Order: sequence, then C-alpha cells, then structure tokens
Amino acid sequence: MRIAIVGGGIAGLAAAYEVEKARAENAAIQYTLYESRPRLGGSLASEVVDGAVLEEGPDSFLTEKPAAAELCRELGLETDLLPSNDAARKTHIVVHNRLVALPDGLMFLVPTKLAATAFTPLFSIATKLRMAVELLHPPRLDHPGDESVAALVERHFGAEAVDRLADPLLSGIYGGAAAELSAAAVLPRLVEMETRFGSLTRGMLAAHRTMQARVRNLSKTPNGGAAAPRPVFTALRGGMSQLVAALVARLDPASLRLNAPVVAIERADSGWKVEAAGATGLYDGLIVASSAWAAAGLLASVDGALAADLDAIPYSSSITVNLIYDEARLGDLPQGFGFLVPSSEGRAMLACTFAHRKFLGRTPPAKAVFRAFLGGVRREAQLAQPDETLIATVRRELTEILGPRTFPPTLEPEHARVARWSRAMAQYSVGHRERIQRIAARVRALEGLRLAGNAYDGIGVPDCIRLGRQAARELLAPRQPSTQSLQAS
Ligand SMILES: Cc1cc2nc3c(=O)[nH]c(=O)nc-3n(C[C@H](O)[C@H](O)[C@H](O)COP(=O)(O)OP(=O)(O)OC[C@H]3O[C@@H](n4cnc5c(N)ncnc54)[C@H](O)[C@@H]3O)c2cc1C
Repeated sequence: MRIAIVGGGIAGLAAAYEVEKARAENAAIQYTLYESRPRLGGSLASEVVDGAVLEEGPDSFLTEKPAAAELCRELGLETDLLPSNDAARKTHIVVHNRLVALPDGLMFLVPTKLAATAFTPLFSIATKLRMAVELLHPPRLDHPGDESVAALVERHFGAEAVDRLADPLLSGIYGGAAAELSAAAVLPRLVEMETRFGSLTRGMLAAHRTMQARVRNLSKTPNGGAAAPRPVFTALRGGMSQLVAALVARLDPASLRLNAPVVAIERADSGWKVEAAGATGLYDGLIVASSAWAAAGLLASVDGALAADLDAIPYSSSITVNLIYDEARLGDLPQGFGFLVPSSEGRAMLACTFAHRKFLGRTPPAKAVFRAFLGGVRREAQLAQPDETLIATVRRELTEILGPRTFPPTLEPEHARVARWSRAMAQYSVGHRERIQRIAARVRALEGLRLAGNAYDGIGVPDCIRLGRQAARELLAPRQPSTQSLQAS
C-alpha cells in the first residue's frame, strides 16, 4: 500500500509517524510526505539563543488534551516534558493602559468565584450586577442554531465581558474576533450548559464539582495520598522543535520530500495521482494535511463542493516577536505569565507572554524573554511591516503598558526575533460544525482520502496530532467503509 501525505506540519508528521510504524511491520507499506517549505514542522519552530529557548510558533500544549504528551512519551521525550509554572500563573488584561489581573475562578470565560468577581477592577458595577443576576438565567429551550461567542457571552454577561474577556482571550488563542467565532465550535461546553442549566455560572459550578470529585478519585496514589495536580500547559525543555526533530528521526529519510509543493491531485482508476516537483506519483491512500485553503486548491478538480467548503474556512495570520533582555536592567515585572490586550485599547499588540516565567529552566538565570503577538484577523497588514518596525512597535507598547521604569524605552534587547505566520490559524466561524459535517460526508465518498490539520476539530497541537494519527490509522485499517468524521470519536 502506498500513501501520500501532503504537508509536513505537526498533523502531517503525526500521520507519517503512524504510517512508518506500520511500515516497520509490513514492508509492502510505503509513503511519501510532501512539504513545500525547506523545513518540516509547519508552525512549530523554536530556536535556542545563548541558552534561551525562543518559540516562534506554539510554546506548549494543553495538558488536558493527551495526544501531544502521549506522542512525546512514545518518542522518548518523557524527561523533557516541562510543566507550566502554575504557582505563578496569573494573566492580566490591559485596561486603559494599565494591567488588571483576571479575577480568580474564571473558567472558560465564566466567573465562578463571587467575591473575586465582586472586587475585581476589571469590570464596572453594572457588569458585576449583570454577572450576579446571570445566576437566574433560565434554561434555553429553543435551539436557534449556532451563534457567535460574542453573542453568547453578551447575552449572559454583557458587552463589557465581551470586550475585556472573550475578545482578548480568543484573539490570544485564535488571533480571531469573538464576534465571528462560533460558540458551538469554540465553546461547546458553554452551549450545552446553557441548554441544561440556563445560567453558565451555575453550569460551570456544577461541572467543577463533578470534575473535582473525579480528580480526587483518579489522583489518589496507590498508598492513598493525593497525586500532584496536572499543569495547565506542557512544553518541551528544548522547545517545540524537539518534538519535530524526534518525529523526523523516526521517519524514513527517503520518504520525505522537502521543497516539494504538491501542485495537482487527481483521482486515478484505483487511487490518487499526486504531482510535485515535476513528477507524478500514484498512491492508494492520500492524507491532505495542509491548511484547508491549500487543500481546497488541490481538491477543486476532484470535488468542487468539497473544495468550496474547505475554501470557506477563514484563516488568520499572526506574528510573534521574541525579545531577550538582561533582567537586572528592567524594573519589577508584574506577577504572572503576561497580558492580553482588548481590541478597544487600539494597540498593535494582541498579547505578550513573559516566557521566562511561564516555563522555568528554558531561559538562563537573570534573563527575561518577552513573547509578543501581533496580527490576527484585525491586523493582517502588519505582516508586510519590516522586522525593525514590528520590534520598535512592541518595545514602545511594552514601555507604555508596563511603564518606563519597568521597561526603559532606550534599553536595547540582547536579541530580537520576528516570525510571520501567514494564514496559519483556522478560524472556527459561526456554522463551522455544520461545514465540517458536510466536508466529512464528501470525504467519506472519496475512497482513500483523509484530511487532517488545524482546520477541523481543534487548532491546538494535540488536536492536530490526534487527527493526523487517526487519518493514517483509518487508511491503514483493513478495507472497510470510510469513517472519517473529522471530530473526536
Ligand atoms: C504563532 C502561533 C502560536 C501558536 N500557539 C499555540 C500553542 O501555544 N499551543 C497550541 O497547542 N497550538 C498553538 N498554535 C496552533 C498550532 O501550532 C497549529 O494549529 C498547528 O501547529 C497546525 O499544524 P498543522 O499541521 O495543521 O498545519 P501547519 O503547521 O500549517 O502545517 C501545514 C504544512 O503544509 C504545508 N503545505 C501547504 N500546502 C502544501 C502543498 N501544496 N504541498 C506540500 N506542502 C504544503 C505547509 O508548508 C505547512 O508546513 C499556534 C500557532 C501559531 C501560528
């Protein structure tokens, strides 16, 4: 059996790893992974500068989604898994140029600690009253279909909660806008809670109690003691590129084609024709693990309706700017992992992580690493700006937000690194789930085809790994009707 994989991001590499494992047991299995760039890993890219790990793309993955840590363990990276420094976890929101800490007890945008919410300067009295009254929200009996995250949050907590909470959090994760992202796809638990409980706060408190009871039972060690709580995020000591390197080391070098953009895909009598770098290969199975917009271009002549739905998935671009500083020359930074910037603040920056605080041991002592995010759906034009302009913008805004004593305007960074990610983050816009169901149905009708990547069922690294491996396993399974669901099974 011959399998082609289009795209060598984390989804394509995870698929290739699964095929390689099957190849080790069955020499009749062969594969080719085509990647248009000169390097593998897609959005995963780290560099180590004077002992400091700089992440140009993702810096970690959510621990509660097991696929990434599981893969790292399989690859022998267990001792390199690094928990986030949750003892110092605190996130700030910029409000009128000042940092305000997110109140304790916020879960998926829902306030669950009444005292912390009552005393936070993040919200006005009107919003706090609205949050208290939300407890009386009746269950939703009508099912009007999908709506935006902004609409859901505003109905429950008011417009200020959208501006200061939902929008900055989502632009930090998706580079997207709460007014466009789908509540059903991005916050399915909240949609379920609204139907069942009415009040999201009551729903979240009930879910929290159930989860705590489960964790208490699960986390008992054999001698009856309590196990250490799981960190919110997990990183790799050497950066996310360590995962890429470990995966590539397991793959067959002769099966990897770099600088090889796939330019055409066609159905053949029994299988798929894939054209890249001036040659056409014939394959029994095909995993398209590129972005959905690239997949749309390649599959347009195979199935126009499928391509149209793939092409309709919006994408945002992002920019990361990493700056290394000598800590002794800075003032005292606020506690925590960094801050998010609401769009109403009118700034270029979307967020900034104090990377040396979030993961300990990846920055040399006495150095500070600021990882700023720009771009997103509202600021695509920033991608065209030269590095010096972007670095100067981040430095100016850090001085304005943190104050000149903490972040002196004339202090030069020891190192600065800009990375641009054009149309890299899929946006799960209103109607996303229905679109994915249509896509999955059309793919099921095309034997030997699978899709994987961040456009379908989770944009995070663990979801991309899960979908990549699942796509490969399905193709390798003994012939049976196609099961691609593009959603968690
Ligand atoms: C700045 C940034 C920060 C992020 N932070 C986090 C985080 O902290 N945690 C987290 O879990 N997730 C994070 N994400 C999201 C996550 O990194 C991505 O969603 C995920 O890596 C996408 O993987 P992928 O394989 O689906 O796509 P990609 O990484 O985009 O890979 C697709 C690959 O396909 C190739 N390709 C495209 N067309 C063709 C073609 N015609 N022929 C051959 N190859 C082709 C591309 O060159 C690319 O290498 C972040 C993303 C970005 C950009």
